[in-house]
Amino acid sequence: MTFPFEAPASSALFDRAREVIPGGVNSPVRAFQAVGGTPRFMVEGRGPYLVDEDGREYVDLVCSWGPIILGHAHPAVVEALRTAAARGTSFGTPSRGEVELAETLVDRVAPVEQVRLVNSGTEATMSAIRLARGFTGRTKVVKFAGCYHGHVDALLASAGSGIATLGLPDTPGVTGATTADTIVLPYNDLSAVRTAFEQEGDAIAVVITEAAAANMGVVPPLPGFNAGLKALCEQYGALLVLDEVMTGFRVSRAGHFGLEGVAPDLFTFGKVMGGGLPAAAFGGRSDVMARLAPQGPVYQAGTLSGNPLAVAAGRATLEQCTAEVYDRVDAAAETVGRLASEALTSAGVPHRVNRAGSLFSIFFADHAVVDYATASQQNVLAYRAFFHEMLARGVYLPPSAYESWFVSAAHDDAALERVADALPHAARAAAAVDAPELVSPPTAKDAT
Ligand SMILES: *Cc1c(COP(=O)(O)O)cnc(C)c1O
Repeated sequence: MTFPFEAPASSALFDRAREVIPGGVNSPVRAFQAVGGTPRFMVEGRGPYLVDEDGREYVDLVCSWGPIILGHAHPAVVEALRTAAARGTSFGTPSRGEVELAETLVDRVAPVEQVRLVNSGTEATMSAIRLARGFTGRTKVVKFAGCYHGHVDALLASAGSGIATLGLPDTPGVTGATTADTIVLPYNDLSAVRTAFEQEGDAIAVVITEAAAANMGVVPPLPGFNAGLKALCEQYGALLVLDEVMTGFRVSRAGHFGLEGVAPDLFTFGKVMGGGLPAAAFGGRSDVMARLAPQGPVYQAGTLSGNPLAVAAGRATLEQCTAEVYDRVDAAAETVGRLASEALTSAGVPHRVNRAGSLFSIFFADHAVVDYATASQQNVLAYRAFFHEMLARGVYLPPSAYESWFVSAAHDDAALERVADALPHAARAAAAVDAPELVSPPTAKDAT
């Protein structure tokens, strides 16, 4: 396809980047392979806006994939970072901020008695799985197709996010031995989980699921799904991990737990709790957490874990995340989802809006999306056209049809108006794509 406008400065940087960084990016979806064209290199974020190397301003509907819930460069976060940086960037010792951030997490999410801080969501889920195996003395992990838990080897089987975008059935470098203990089941299918437990119940250490799946687009759990997982885990002596790296502290004060109230044995957190810096955590029952080194035998560590800058950004962000902020985020998400749906309906483009609290995404499909199989059947070519028209009109959407859209409390009327103005044009661009047959996620070959 042709693209509505060029981005010469980003393009030049992308050329340089590809010389020294594989694919020119440090995380695959950023490369725009799923939508084509030149990824925008950003120089600045302020409030709801991003500014690229060519000086163009965009309303940001990605928000760094979740963390930026207050908008970019929120004064309280910037000030907290300035203060922390002036006192030194890393001590390699315990420090007060870590205790206070841990207390905040424990205070917000009632079932969490103890947490361990780490540096990324990937580390959080990897460590939670190790701990669950160490605690139960069992080997097998149940995960769901289309759920993404970071690039943990054992969980890179039918994962969503970049994997869904690239359509990689599997990734080279992860051995069969590594995934041999991973059981992948269809999301929202409790009977499949029951069958797995009936067959291998005494070998299953842990079931891990996103509290609401949001890495194959947003696919909320059907009523009773998470509660059913908890009941089965209890019955068979396995642990349940609810991965709230994306939903945690974003969809409510207490994340998805605050909306649904299903208490797992362990949670994983990330994104919002780091305020845009690398901080994440896993936590839950204190008898399980007590198995972690140095208190217990399960090893887990990190040179920069509990880093003072990351902790300061996370604490400042969570301090600002008041009921009013969640109301604003909910309202902005409702507005953008509704306006997008209205524009697509007017243009005659089949679509479904899926929501999990303030997380939402739009599937370019004419059927209910409840799992990875139904999520995979959408008109990605229509999304490409839609994406580029929005980009040309100053709105930065996720560069893949398989990602959630994100808003922040800084998305004010002016920002939402720009989105509203762009949507009808983008919807017409999507309608003009004559690819009515549904297209599965592009293969790695298509994407290059
Ligand atoms: C983003 C995400 C992760 C991985 O976090 P990273 O910080 O990118 O390693 C894990 N689980 C879920 C649900 C996520 O959305």
